Amino acid sequence: MVDHSKEDRLRILVTGGAGFIGSHLIDRLLKEGHRIVVVDNLVTGSTENIAHLAGNSDFHFIKHDVSNFIFIPGQIDYILHLASPASPNPRSPYGYPQLPIQTLKVGALGTHNALGVARAFNAKFLLASTSEVYGDPLEHPQTESYKGNVDPIGPRSVYDEAKRFAEAITMAYMRYHDLDTKIARIFNTYGPRMRLDDGRVIPNFIVQALSGQPLTVFGDGMQTRSFCFVDDLVEGLHRLMLSDFNEPINLGNPVEMTILELAEMINKMTGNNAGVERLQDRRDPDDPQRREPNISRAMDKLGWKPEIGLKDGLQRTIDDFKDRMG
Ligand code: NAD
Ligand code: UDP
Repeated sequence: MVDHSKEDRLRILVTGGAGFIGSHLIDRLLKEGHRIVVVDNLVTGSTENIAHLAGNSDFHFIKHDVSNFIFIPGQIDYILHLASPASPNPRSPYGYPQLPIQTLKVGALGTHNALGVARAFNAKFLLASTSEVYGDPLEHPQTESYKGNVDPIGPRSVYDEAKRFAEAITMAYMRYHDLDTKIARIFNTYGPRMRLDDGRVIPNFIVQALSGQPLTVFGDGMQTRSFCFVDDLVEGLHRLMLSDFNEPINLGNPVEMTILELAEMINKMTGNNAGVERLQDRRDPDDPQRREPNISRAMDKLGWKPEIGLKDGLQRTIDDFKDRMG
């Protein structure tokens, strides 16, 4: 179990800290009294996510691609490695199918470089991995012992295999170099600050609903996901960071629903009467049919479970999107 009273003031490197999850995480870490260095090349992130931190002397931003050698002046105590494109939508400019080489490089070379920084400073290291390491899972719900069902050359392979490599090299540094490493397998997370044109299902549906358009359901909409609000995820990441646990750990909300149910909920909450449009050919062949985390390990090792229900989290996200859409 995590003892927060023992939390020291750390200087923390956050790769990908100008992204959606990263920016929420650094807000939390600054509140805890830590000093933050963000390294981000802004390929899918935005300075808008960190603009409120301008002038904060505990916050430092370096624009840099972590797939190239990383130089950080001064001591680093912890590295939170979040840098990677994360949206599977090939129609979004921020989707990893549009950034295949960058995605493979950041998962492989970027993780190697970030681990190198950890080794140089004898810093602790946390990898933001993903439920995509399970691919289109044949076990349901997914436990950490499930080894996955990934097509190495399919449309999602550039992301899935990069993250699987990232986990392998992280464990190798832990075992071979005695580095203190953690691996979070993050399941679908949503919330304020997601790009309007990110391409993932919740931003797509909210933008369409607020514009009075039908929601684009890919395939028959019977595929399932389990959605975690970002504040809950940040709490889980923070607890994992402070824990002594070194094996991969699922972080996500175990409430499973179909994409069609999600669409109906968002239409209802926004008062959108345009319904849904089923687009059979938009679903990629590796799109998982069912996804739900088993979070027993996180409950046991971190004392963590999500607290924010989907309706509450969606309302906060809809409000943020309304503000940004003007
Ligand atoms: P995001 O796209 O908003 O954030 C990713 C950040 O990484 C961006 O700011 C981007 O500019 C930066 N980045 C990408 N490549 C880089 C590089 N080579 N050098 C420096 N910076 C780089 O996405 P997110 O949803 O916030 O995801 C953050 C992390 O969490 C990713 O590693 C992602 O794989 C993981 N994750 C997210 C989810 C989710 O549902 N949001 C689920 C599973 C895993
Ligand atoms: N999806 C959809 N309409 C959209 C975007 C996504 O029906 O406009 C579906 C997608 O096919 C997948 C699910 O929603 O089955 C979740 O997609 P997302 O891009 O959020 O991420 P994934 O969980 O697939 O990584």
